[in-house]
Amino acid sequence: MLRGLIRKSVFLGSAVVAMFYLSSGEVFSQSLEQEATVEENIPTEEGLTVKFVSTDLEGAAEALANAKSYTVNLQIQDRSFPNGGGSVPEVKVSAIHNGENIFFGIQWSDATKNDRAIKHEQFRDAVGLMFPLGIVKISPETPFSPRMGDRGKTVNIWHWKADWERDLLADGGYEHMEDQYPNMFTDFDFDPNPIPDNKAAHESAELMSGGYSAGSLLSQARGRSVEDLNAVGFGTLTAQEHQDVEGTGAWIDGTWDVIVYRPLSTPDANDVQFVPGKSTFFNMAVWNGEDGDRNGLKSVSIRWRPITIESAR
Ligand code: CA
Ligand code: CA
Repeated sequence: MLRGLIRKSVFLGSAVVAMFYLSSGEVFSQSLEQEATVEENIPTEEGLTVKFVSTDLEGAAEALANAKSYTVNLQIQDRSFPNGGGSVPEVKVSAIHNGENIFFGIQWSDATKNDRAIKHEQFRDAVGLMFPLGIVKISPETPFSPRMGDRGKTVNIWHWKADWERDLLADGGYEHMEDQYPNMFTDFDFDPNPIPDNKAAHESAELMSGGYSAGSLLSQARGRSVEDLNAVGFGTLTAQEHQDVEGTGAWIDGTWDVIVYRPLSTPDANDVQFVPGKSTFFNMAVWNGEDGDRNGLKSVSIRWRPITIESAR
């Protein structure tokens, strides 16, 4: 009885609050909660130079190790609900190209290797690189959100994920519930040669598994550890049809060392294109799974940074 009354009071209270906000013109969504500051629309003066190095794929890691690194300072994501993160103060990035591919070397300190996200309380370590799509001018007069882009101001995001990296080493290219819970019981038979009783269920897997049937990157072996995405503001992050970014990462003695790379140009209209001799902008975010970072809970840079692609020789 008492519990029922409390529930009713909470419901009515929520309804009154909702009506107040609706009538006051406030919008319930994951959109911009505060106006961007002027500073956010002024790119930093110093940027990253992508040196031309005549190297093949195998030599890229060494070339990156020899390249000058650039430090991106990070802070808590404080603009869009759910706010959070902020435990990673900085990330170092270096970049080279060989006239065909562009390579980014990324390092940050992280005391914990979080490369599995199967249990509901497990979250992954990850890093994101973001670029504006097309040729843009960024200034207080021509604002372009350094957070997730904006309507009509699309960004291309490359998201390396530690658990996707681990998936590459798993049997079949994808970790399953049984990897986390080896003694789990399931009444669904994953055996490809099921006993006759379970045959119908096994053969209807595609009908029963929506994500798998739709070809979602989250539901299948994807053979890569970087996701190629677009966004036009908070709450709009979308996986691309054409995945073009490759990567590899390792956690050694408290440091993540990640390389992501892609052809300088691609035939995908949703991708950033890099032209030797030209400049664009980039921005970064880092997630520490140990601290519960995921989605908008992350350490972010709130300024665009110039990135210049050196001419090929
Ligand atoms: Ca971690
Ligand atoms: Ca793409």
